[in-house]
Amino acid sequence: MDKRQPSRNAELGLSTRAIHHGYDPAEEHGALTPPIFMTSTYAFETAEAGSELFRGERAGYIYGRTRNPTQALLEARLASLEGGEAALAVASGMGAISATMWTLLSAGDSVVIDRILYGNTFAFFTKGLTRFGVNVRLADFTDPDALAQALAAEDRLKLVYFETPANPNLRIIDVARVSSLAKSAGALSIVDNTFATPILQNPLKLGADLVVHSATKYLGGHGDLLGGAVVGSSALIEQIRGTGLRALTGATLSPLNAFLILRGLKTLEVRMERHSRSAQQIAELLGSHPLVSHVTYPGLKSFPQYELAQRQMRQPGGLIAFELEGGVEAGMAFMNRLELVVRAVSLGDAETLVQHPASMTHATYSADERKRHGISDSLLRLSVGLENVEDLMADIAQALDHVHASKRQAD
Ligand code: PLP
Repeated sequence: MDKRQPSRNAELGLSTRAIHHGYDPAEEHGALTPPIFMTSTYAFETAEAGSELFRGERAGYIYGRTRNPTQALLEARLASLEGGEAALAVASGMGAISATMWTLLSAGDSVVIDRILYGNTFAFFTKGLTRFGVNVRLADFTDPDALAQALAAEDRLKLVYFETPANPNLRIIDVARVSSLAKSAGALSIVDNTFATPILQNPLKLGADLVVHSATKYLGGHGDLLGGAVVGSSALIEQIRGTGLRALTGATLSPLNAFLILRGLKTLEVRMERHSRSAQQIAELLGSHPLVSHVTYPGLKSFPQYELAQRQMRQPGGLIAFELEGGVEAGMAFMNRLELVVRAVSLGDAETLVQHPASMTHATYSADERKRHGISDSLLRLSVGLENVEDLMADIAQALDHVHASKRQAD
């Protein structure tokens, strides 16, 4: 649709672009659904044409590690949804983060990262990049003065990196504020938008330079693939595609997975609405139960950054973090008592998933780091799925009631 009516592009809603952008059935034998190009390499019309393609003097496809038409459509749609000029689809969220960092950083450069990140992202920065001579500094991005000081202390500062809402405790970072501080310090700002998706917020429109995604989560939406993406200006994306490192790391997304993510995108807006609506109800249920000592959900008035969440996000999303009276032991007992909610890491699937970050997704932080960074060992993270919300609430309530009764007997 956009292809045929490019002038209307900017006016079209998110769902419309997620369903139609960049594809014209007339160009593919009338096929309503875009084809999957399962090919590893491409035939050159002539030997000279092949050389021209390699020199960048002719547009077209060369080899599957660098570009594929199914990926190209996914990239066009993600760029449109995030409000970027271009996107690069890669094999996983970690592939997106590592390809971006290997491209933008050299030995001697500095990066400043927020202190609460997905466990493997934290490990990639603090244990991975440091081995190659990159200086990795930590700061609390919710404290603009401390962040400004941390940025000013670096003389080869290249970029700042953060998640909002952050994994696992849903802390929110003011994207406009941090991006403007980074810009004044001559650095790029890079935001992991996995938890919010382009449906709930668009960091590029708030001043960020690049957005990264684990498409494994909400974008794919069905727990059946791994994928990732980076979105931003054409210049940065082409740098990451070319110099970089999708070609050189081999973190290429398979055409089949690109197709599945394209399919997921078609329902992203309706799924995010349902995830958010159900999560709000479940967060309220948790907040009213005597066993629950603490609930963190951006849609609750008790959320410490409620105003910022209202301003920055269109809806509060599908993730909830909470703690039980009785700490880790009660948390484990609660998880084991659940019958419908599945004990699993990952998020953004149709199934509701629960996990214990300290021993699972954030076990890459040492106990001391978790303590210093404010990731409680008692925290549980719930990714609210698409099941009937009454069924979910009944399952969660019965597990809470059971652990509460056992605890009272023991006390
Ligand atoms: N970013 C966030 C916020 C995540 O939660 C994850 C995975 O859980 C990743 C990145 C990494 O993505 P992937 O598992 O697709 O490599």
